[in-house]
Amino acid sequence: MAMIDKVLIANRGEIALRILRACKELGIGTVAVHSQVDRDLMHVRLADESVCIGPNSATESYLNIPAIISAAEVTDAEGIHPGYGFLAENADFAEQVEKSGFRFIGPRAETIRLMGNKVSAINAMVKAGVPTVPGSDGPITDDDAHTLKVARKIGYPVIIKAASGGGGRGMQVVHSEAALLKSIQITKSEARNAFGDETCYLEKYLERPRHVEVQVLADMHGNVIHLGDRDCSMQRRHQKVIEEAPAPNIDPEAREKTLQACVDACKEIGYVGAGTFEFLYQDGQFYFIEMNTRVQVEHPVSEMVTGVDIVKEQLRVASGLPLTFSQDEIRVTGHAMECRINAEDPQTFIPSPGQVKHFHAPGGNGVRVDSHMYTGYSVPPYYDSLIGKLISFGEDRETARKRMKNALDELVVEGIKTNQPLHRRLILDGGFKNVEFTIHYLEKLIKD
Ligand code: ADP
Repeated sequence: MAMIDKVLIANRGEIALRILRACKELGIGTVAVHSQVDRDLMHVRLADESVCIGPNSATESYLNIPAIISAAEVTDAEGIHPGYGFLAENADFAEQVEKSGFRFIGPRAETIRLMGNKVSAINAMVKAGVPTVPGSDGPITDDDAHTLKVARKIGYPVIIKAASGGGGRGMQVVHSEAALLKSIQITKSEARNAFGDETCYLEKYLERPRHVEVQVLADMHGNVIHLGDRDCSMQRRHQKVIEEAPAPNIDPEAREKTLQACVDACKEIGYVGAGTFEFLYQDGQFYFIEMNTRVQVEHPVSEMVTGVDIVKEQLRVASGLPLTFSQDEIRVTGHAMECRINAEDPQTFIPSPGQVKHFHAPGGNGVRVDSHMYTGYSVPPYYDSLIGKLISFGEDRETARKRMKNALDELVVEGIKTNQPLHRRLILDGGFKNVEFTIHYLEKLIKD
């Protein structure tokens, strides 16, 4: 079995650069595809070949399946890496990539489809023995009396969630029976508009959980390993702001059981590639909420504490090669944190595109910067506002936190607004320092 020889990177920004770096390390040829405005992206400049696949709107470029497949044909690429976002969890895309004779660097299309529907994902997890949130165990039906009964049994507050939802959208918390049926109608119609699927289900709304997730890797030979867990509780509008690994203060027994359950579930569903099981963690218990069938923004924190290069493993796995490591060889050592740097107003959170007049990256022992930014680079208004990730590593959580503090002090981004001030506040915050937080912590802090 040989390593894929040429990879088309179907993404932009920091993750495109991350994938390019991994390919170069492995001696894999690289094709960058980009929209018109993105011709000056760092990875486009560094790639062996580049193809402009369309105008600026994502629909016409990074979501344009025919244009991406044509670019792969023209450049004779062997594999396509979707990164995260855009087409990364689009089962039809994965299928078309494979049908056109390329390797999709990710799980099989049917796995993406299974996990892309949260109702079928939860069912698969129940079957595999992964603990889930008490809920409706299936879609909400037209039988209102039954729905009311189910909600009463779960106990209020409940959360209505769209089966096809993602990116923190398609969710509604309901505190009383009086509001339930109306809220379901609203969430359904929102889901129909946003995701083309109005299927919704109910879950118990947990009031003070943390978000804890498990990174897994699986190859085509039946080998599955986990790389431990991450805490991503610092969120605003269900979007992660700071992540860390390992998740601090977790019950050791519950952790071991959950990590093993994730590995077992991967074997059960025949999972291939990198993936993440997302859980809510409350009172020492894990509750599965969804699985992401792609590399995640926060993957570097797991890399720092295990020494495993997740993107390189993805490329190996897609080539048909076995994973580099067995579970016995994985040791979680030290602690890592990641701050997502967004081009946005730190108070209003309104995106702040424009030209970066000056950029200076922090450095030093235990500091990693994953960013496509450079002095003179213009952040376009068309896409996600993530412009970089600061990652710190140390022998323990306090060391990683202090290094992050230094890194945030050293970072210079001039010309556009960023959320650097918010991160500087959070990294010194007592609640964050002492692990006294839930998924609601950051939003409460901002309000005060
Ligand atoms: P998405 O696919 O949009 O990311 P998730 O199902 O992963 O949706 O949920 C995103 C976030 O919403 C979680 O990290 C958590 O903050 C919140 N959330 C989801 N389900 C629940 C629940 N049952 N109780 C409380 N909060 C929840």
